[in-house]
Amino acid sequence: MVTFVGAGPGAKDLITVRGQRLLEEADIVIYAGSLVNPKLLYGCKETCAVYNSAKMTLEEVLEVIKEGETQRKNIVRLHTGDPCLYGAIKEQMDELERLGIGYEVCPGVSSFCAAAAALDAEYTLPGISQSVVITRMAGRTPVPEKESIRSFAAHGTTMVIFLSTGMLKELSEELISGGYEQDTPAAIVYKASWPEEKVLNCTVKTLAQTAKEAGVTKTALIVVGRVLDGKYERSKLYDPTFTTEFRKASSHVGKAEKENTKE
Ligand code: SAH
Repeated sequence: MVTFVGAGPGAKDLITVRGQRLLEEADIVIYAGSLVNPKLLYGCKETCAVYNSAKMTLEEVLEVIKEGETQRKNIVRLHTGDPCLYGAIKEQMDELERLGIGYEVCPGVSSFCAAAAALDAEYTLPGISQSVVITRMAGRTPVPEKESIRSFAAHGTTMVIFLSTGMLKELSEELISGGYEQDTPAAIVYKASWPEEKVLNCTVKTLAQTAKEAGVTKTALIVVGRVLDGKYERSKLYDPTFTTEFRKASSHVGKAEKENTKE
């Protein structure tokens, strides 16, 4: 049995409770060593065999899994953030399917959430943006033409751009030619939630310069959009004059009711 576990963005206490338990019970851990915090492995059993997949091919990963499976071991495949984003888990799941090896996924906190936390930002602000585009610049992995940064930029929505810190000049050009004003707020969040985290506020135009000055070349997310400006409309959800499924509208600001959570 293999469990794909989201390791979270970096801080060793930002893995889920379930993920941590799975690591404690694992006989074999194959972790994405390029980004997963090795401190997460301190909780593993002394007898646990640990492999760093940064140095392995898919075939080698599968060999370790196959061998472990014949010995009925608990296997954890530890991926950074949440495995559903740029995690290359589908190709592993398909191979496991073919080999008749059972698997499941334990989600994790993606780095785009840790970046929002580092920025004290809300990606979806009423009157500003109600959508988040998660994307990347084309690199060695191509991006379908219809998903160009330029075409997404035309929506003016919040964008979180992965895997593109080495291409910030081109990214700026794409964002601006797609429709963002040059002075649209942007941020570079380096190693969100790690002790060495850096938050660099800038504009769409100054992305490359800002990263250069701070010496940031990788392991960063680029956040773009007017939500970083701090202007917005108040939410309807907590508006006293708005009725929701749980609360009746009232014209005055009442006292909050305390909920009794004891049985
Ligand atoms: N599955 C991961 C993403 C893997 S792709 C997730 O959900 O976060 C690897 C890219 O993610 C990096 O190049 C970088 O752009 C981003 N990344 C991962 N961890 C990060 C962190 N702690 N801070 C900023 N960016 C991070």
